[in-house]
Amino acid sequence: MQLECSKCGKPAVYLRRYTSERLCQACLVQTTTDRVRRTINRHKMLREDDRIAVAISGGKDSAVLLHILNKIESNFPESELIPVTIDEGIKGYRDKALEAAKELTKSLNLALEVFSFKNMFDYSLDELVELRTDKSLGACSYCGVFRRRALNEVAETLEADVIATGHNLDDETQTILMNIMRGDSRRIARTNVSRERSVEGLVPRIKPLSELSERDIVAYSHHLGLIYHDIPCPYSGEAYRNDIRSFLNDMEHKRPGTLLAILHSAEAVTEALLTSSSDWTLKTCEKCNTPSPSEICKACMMLEEIRG
Ligand code: SF4
Ligand SMILES: [Zn+2]
Ligand SMILES: [Zn+2]
Repeated sequence: MQLECSKCGKPAVYLRRYTSERLCQACLVQTTTDRVRRTINRHKMLREDDRIAVAISGGKDSAVLLHILNKIESNFPESELIPVTIDEGIKGYRDKALEAAKELTKSLNLALEVFSFKNMFDYSLDELVELRTDKSLGACSYCGVFRRRALNEVAETLEADVIATGHNLDDETQTILMNIMRGDSRRIARTNVSRERSVEGLVPRIKPLSELSERDIVAYSHHLGLIYHDIPCPYSGEAYRNDIRSFLNDMEHKRPGTLLAILHSAEAVTEALLTSSSDWTLKTCEKCNTPSPSEICKACMMLEEIRG
């Protein structure tokens, strides 16, 4: 027997487990968009006249992010979306993802800005991995540090007010739990900072999909036929994250709503930490002048190591 949509009574195509909603295709798309709009409003992520740099990887998360922001932004004529791809230089992977990103932006009548590690830092990610002396650091550590740096520089060049990234609820809760299990409370607070608490010298970051599960994102992109690239990065497979992912998936399956509860707890802890302590001011990197927790920022440290 075909189940009915909890919203409109038409045949349902999707069960959103954490809200117990059965949804038809139209209501799936509408409620997904509404969830993102609510997240944006609740955290005051956007202003009416923002220039929004949208980080596009070519994957499904950023495809959904751009698609939904494009709909929301059409109500705000003074605001502007600037899709940006950072090409890390991962042979056989990023080049294919870049094609998907170009097609997606074209289908939305937007122009894609492309920047690369090679042009910005003189090394592609493949070269950084090859040249690193500290083999205990995986490719993702270099990738994360340089992508953060690259996005900030690019957003400044494009005079963007804010950078939107496609991190979803699953990504966010995995990161929160990894930081808890490593005993790194400062990082929990740093990765959950709201726009209002952003630091001078760093373009504020927002994560409009942070309350949307990966399952929701897959369903949304599937039903709208969005263009994205689905092959995993050859460097992916960080063992620690994979363990936490399967633990969290298991918990979410047994107790729907667990992921949202973890996210909201981390937000509350962040707020409490930032309010109670004055020890959150950043230094300025001696080499590149960007705000950093230490005298020399991580990206400059890594570049020094690579150059030898
Ligand atoms: S899996 Fe790691 S190396 Fe690959 S794109 Fe993601 S962060 Fe970068
Ligand atoms: Zn419906
Ligand atoms: Zn630096």
